[in-house]
Amino acid sequence: MADIIKIDENTWRFEDGFVRFFLLEGDEKAAMIDSGMNCPNALEMAKELTDKPVILINTHGDGDHTSGTSGFSRIFIHPSDYVKCEVNARYPETELEEINDGDVIDLGNRPLKIIHIPGHTSGSVAILDVKKRVLIAGDSVQKGHIYMLGAKREPEKYEASLEKLASFDAEYDEIYASHDECILPKDYVDKVKDAWNQVRSGNMPFEIIDLFGNKVRSYTTEYCGFYLEDR
Ligand SMILES: [Zn+2]
Repeated sequence: MADIIKIDENTWRFEDGFVRFFLLEGDEKAAMIDSGMNCPNALEMAKELTDKPVILINTHGDGDHTSGTSGFSRIFIHPSDYVKCEVNARYPETELEEINDGDVIDLGNRPLKIIHIPGHTSGSVAILDVKKRVLIAGDSVQKGHIYMLGAKREPEKYEASLEKLASFDAEYDEIYASHDECILPKDYVDKVKDAWNQVRSGNMPFEIIDLFGNKVRSYTTEYCGFYLEDR
């Protein structure tokens, strides 16, 4: 059961242990952005807060962001993650509603713009809450360690995705992250990009740690961290 914190009159965040997700209410409907790790009842929780119909939009398909999926008949998610992150296999009853770069989902006087940012996963998207001037960035921009290991990642595309987010920076004032601190300043995109470039250049020291039984490289920079395969 997540702790619910009101951000403003029609926006809430759900603190589900080490991960968080969001509820955004427009004039006609509401959108849950992700559904946590331990919240199969995410939809019921949303219905306590809004009487509008609730849709589910996912920033990406990792398991710590999808626990409430089975409560919904369809999930708005980038098609790459629906398959690569096995959302289809884990939630066979929930249909895919494709979202792609440039799509706008309007909740009623509250348009949400989809920005495809492959890297952390191939189907990762950021969601620009246009009128609130907030960027919901999933795991791609955050203070914690960003997973960049395993078959569903596309590290070679991540830098360009961060550049893409920076190119929208006139359209948002702050960033909401899924892990660690919730609200980050908009220049955090550049900070994460600089840190990532240092990691990619091979100049950043790392330590080998055990992550769920695998030996991985853990990079800890001033602003965020990364987990990479050790090779
Ligand atoms: Zn995550």
